[in-house]
Amino acid sequence: MMNNLDDVVTTRYEGSIAWVTLNRPEYRNAQNSAMTYALDDAFVAAVDDDAIRVIVLNGAGDHFSAGHDIGTPGRDVDQSFSRRAVLCWDHVGKQGADARMARESEVYLGMCRRWREIPKPVIAMVQGGCIAGGLMLAWIADFIIASEDAFFADPVVQMGIPGVEYFAHPWATNPRAAKELLFTGDRFDAHRAQSLGMVNHVVPRDELEQRTRAIATKIARMPAFGLSLAKRAVNQAEDSQGLRVGLDAAFGLHHVGHAHNAELHGDALAGADVRSLARDAAAGGQLGEG
Ligand code: ZN
Repeated sequence: MMNNLDDVVTTRYEGSIAWVTLNRPEYRNAQNSAMTYALDDAFVAAVDDDAIRVIVLNGAGDHFSAGHDIGTPGRDVDQSFSRRAVLCWDHVGKQGADARMARESEVYLGMCRRWREIPKPVIAMVQGGCIAGGLMLAWIADFIIASEDAFFADPVVQMGIPGVEYFAHPWATNPRAAKELLFTGDRFDAHRAQSLGMVNHVVPRDELEQRTRAIATKIARMPAFGLSLAKRAVNQAEDSQGLRVGLDAAFGLHHVGHAHNAELHGDALAGADVRSLARDAAAGGQLGEG
């Protein structure tokens, strides 16, 4: 099964493995809503196909994902999509915090929660940049295999916003590391991510796909129902350690940050745009958005 190469997400089935690929390499796989819903369609199809046992989420090109789309020609924040992650009204036609919360509770927090609960193992295969919203996509996976050139960052505190919408930082790393990565906005490399428990394996770039395939193939031999139960058991352990309520609490603070920006600057992102972020990137900062 293969989609059109123009699709923002492509899917390739290889035996029992579904390779689901973010496919906007010209924009470092910046995530617009079209990509979000295409990704959801791809996950649903892979869940529904009994032949598929493992899903590998990956990104085309040099980078896994630069984060949410805040300025490509395909930016679509003002468009309506058929909502499916949470039961809420359409953000289009609403204003202020109402519009922002309606949209972000659906396409960011809601979708990430939905994807975390996919009943089949999901492996994120990460190369190059995995920034801000890109972290959210990697974090919904059950585990992460990164190449040696991979780097990670959540720089959105620069915008006065306390991290990306899916606030898994303290659970994906640890509380002190989460504070450091948020307070500095610095990138951290794959080995640091591994030392923090966020990444399972760091492999040479030219072996990334092969090593990921080997692990996925091994997992695919396990009973599907047993895998889904094991996944649920670990997810429930994380939830009992506060992940679920932590996400809700941080989501509220995230929207205080957006609202403060809108009140003071007339813009929920505090004037951050592609140009300013590109400047930051050139100065050693990162691309990405909250
Ligand atoms: Zn936001």
